[in-house]
Amino acid sequence: MPTSLFDLTGSVALVTGSSRGIGRTIAHALASAGATIVLHGQDEQRLAGTRADFEREFGADTVHSVAFDITDAAAVVTGVSWVESAVGPIGVLVNNAGIQHREALVDLAVEDWDRVLRTNLTSAFLAGREVAKVMIPRGRGKIINIASVQADLARSTIAPYTAAKGGLRNLTRAMTAEWAAHNIQVNAIAPGYIHTEMTQNLVEDESFNAWIIGRTPARRWGTTADLAGPAVWLASGGSDFVNGQVIFIDGGMTVVV
Ligand code: NDP
Repeated sequence: MPTSLFDLTGSVALVTGSSRGIGRTIAHALASAGATIVLHGQDEQRLAGTRADFEREFGADTVHSVAFDITDAAAVVTGVSWVESAVGPIGVLVNNAGIQHREALVDLAVEDWDRVLRTNLTSAFLAGREVAKVMIPRGRGKIINIASVQADLARSTIAPYTAAKGGLRNLTRAMTAEWAAHNIQVNAIAPGYIHTEMTQNLVEDESFNAWIIGRTPARRWGTTADLAGPAVWLASGGSDFVNGQVIFIDGGMTVVV
């Protein structure tokens, strides 16, 4: 039984795209708070490596993994159902898996538009829908959608990502409209620029790096660790009356011009 507001003991948390990057750090934070973790990704070898690291730290009983393509509706149904039967009732879903694609909008192929929308937005609908089906009868649950400052701010060459993250913001509200009455809290975390594999090329780009530092009131890139506390809060009983919010974790980027 949980002994404090932020204790996740006894809760099963599925974090999509947790084989690396932000998802991995969020999964680590939830495991550190006591949750049983289900790691997820597409690349089985990378996932197995992350699982081995987690097992060494938290023990094999509380660490599980499942690989499937988050854009494949049938695979999501099978994956969620496997977690429910093999691991236990899902208490926390973090919709984190995502990709980026940089190209001018006039040159963008519809296949690339679709791929980014499917991975960053449709995925949250698919996983959220399956998990809500089992959370609703239980009358409790936490869903955290990982958005971005691009939920609010556009930037050239990333139109599909911007559209997907803006959509994820309103999907968070739509899920709230339908599921809050069942004691399911759905919220989004909108990270600013975080140093991960996805952004490694931007960190190495001298002029972009200087622009980020100047544009961010906190004068630095975010780290994945900056997202740990907010994720634990939104996964825990400490946020039981927080519904449909987008929490910007961006060093102040979205509140200044
Ligand atoms: P990474 O590229 O480091 O990791 C992406 C994760 O998503 C991996 O685990 C990857 O699995 C998984 N994934 C991607 N596509 C699929 C798929 N089709 N099926 C299953 N799993 C998939 O990304 P980040 O950690 O940087 O980003 C994570 C989330 O945070 C994304 O939603 C991103 O938009 C968001 N974000 C990131 C920011 C940043 O600055 N980095 C800022 C704001 C938001 P595999 O290893 O198997 O490919």
